[in-house]
Amino acid sequence: MITIIDGKKTSEEIKSEIATRVKEIVDAGGKKPHLAAVLVGNDGASQTYVGAKVKACDQVGFDSTLVRLEETISEEELLTVVEDINQNPAIDGLIVQLPLPKHISVEKVTNKIKPEKDVDGFTPANVGRMTLGWPAYVAATPYGIVELLKRYQIETSGKHCVVIGRSHIVGSPMSILMARNEYPGNCTVTLTHSRTKNLPEIAKTADILIVALGKPEFVTADMVKEGAVVIDVGIHRVDDSSKKSGFRLIGDVKFDEVSQKASAITPVPGGVGPMTIASLLFNTLLAAEGKVYGN
Ligand code: NAD
Repeated sequence: MITIIDGKKTSEEIKSEIATRVKEIVDAGGKKPHLAAVLVGNDGASQTYVGAKVKACDQVGFDSTLVRLEETISEEELLTVVEDINQNPAIDGLIVQLPLPKHISVEKVTNKIKPEKDVDGFTPANVGRMTLGWPAYVAATPYGIVELLKRYQIETSGKHCVVIGRSHIVGSPMSILMARNEYPGNCTVTLTHSRTKNLPEIAKTADILIVALGKPEFVTADMVKEGAVVIDVGIHRVDDSSKKSGFRLIGDVKFDEVSQKASAITPVPGGVGPMTIASLLFNTLLAAEGKVYGN
């Protein structure tokens, strides 16, 4: 029987655990965790993502601050805003929503974020700490996947894990996490990308297949081993006149046929997606409690 890995349900469980912890902190006289989100410009998708993050803060009892800045803000001014938040003791976690306008260097801004407040896990300090296996803020999407594997008790030790896609925010960290000497981990990992030769043959040898390449329904049943665990990170909107919204969401995996072969699979929507915000909230709680860097 196939297991549908339910990210929506799991993310609600995590949010409820976080809300319980916040209540304990506040009841003991402590302060609520506080996340600041910086949004530059008026990109529709970014506004939706940031809005969802702020709403989720409310849901678990966090304080949040949304800093909205004009598209035309200079790099220098944005760096000053980040530094002010770095120095503000009331704020535990800081995220700068990407993408940024072209005239601003993502590297400079990311590097300005104090690692202790970098709950997106994007700074070199946190990527380095994760790679070394030290306490770190792990980027929200890979962290969400690790949490799903854990909560669904997916066996990983000695398995062959194939990751498709090597982005800094998903594929690359995922390959590091799956190879580390702990659970979930201890996999033999193959990291594949756009220059990989014979990708279908390699994918077919995976016990655990993590798909994050950003191509709708790229992975078909013939690329998947019988009984594999399939994690689909992709999200794409396709027109669908039968839906009230006029569209539906699909992943990087052809769910209907791959689910006939897999032993466990994440659906889209309702798989990896909802876990991302839950992970960000969890990192913010860790920040407030000084669990990664100590207080
Ligand atoms: P990206 O575009 O930054 O990276 C894609 C990677 O896939 C690259 O490393 C590239 O080398 C590789 N690739 C491209 N074509 C390939 C091919 N034909 N064969 C093998 N590898 C190929 O993408 P990303 O930011 O990692 O996102 C991937 C997907 O996941 C997107 O659909 C994105 O929307 C989605 N995503 C979802 C969440 C979530 O919360 N669920 C979070 C981040 C990204």
